[in-house]
Amino acid sequence: MDLKSLIRDIPDFPKPGIMFRDITTLLRDRDGLRYTIDLLQQKCHEANLTVDYVVGMESRGFIFGTPLAYKLDAGFIPVRKPGKLPAAVHSVEYQLEYGTDCLEIHQDALPVGSKVLIVDDLIATGGTAVATAKLLQKVGCELVGFGFIIELRDLNGRRHLPNVPIISLVEY
Ligand code: 5GP
Repeated sequence: MDLKSLIRDIPDFPKPGIMFRDITTLLRDRDGLRYTIDLLQQKCHEANLTVDYVVGMESRGFIFGTPLAYKLDAGFIPVRKPGKLPAAVHSVEYQLEYGTDCLEIHQDALPVGSKVLIVDDLIATGGTAVATAKLLQKVGCELVGFGFIIELRDLNGRRHLPNVPIISLVEY
């Protein structure tokens, strides 16, 4: 299946000069959605990944991470923007083009030593994925891989990631 044909390009969003890859058109396509999750699962198996938990970043990481966790017989853990999680959290700040952003995880989200796959819809600079990997270090988990639907190759975000398998389904 041609997943790229289901992803819509929106020029100048969220600001002029940015070409936004819109996955809502992929999500609404029942065959495309099923194919996407099945393909992620298949690639996890091909990479021989053992996954206890999928960790997904707010908010599009939730959409793809949860059905993948179901397929992998794993649990799902949300990583959220500041102030959203109700119990005690670990926080990591990371650099944006202008300013900083922050992500949080519950301190007791998962048992020490758990094997974790990080899932998001898209990797651009890699800042979000690196911040999430740092959160997992704080909770003492073993990162076994990353899964993305879309990878923006020009930005080469993968060079910043730890040395584990990186799965991506569509490249621009
Ligand atoms: P990074 O931290 O790798 O620079 O940016 C990745 C994060 O920004 C992801 O959480 C992703 O959801 C969001 N993002 C950045 N650009 C796009 C885009 O063009 N399309 C979508 N769907 N998400 C984007």
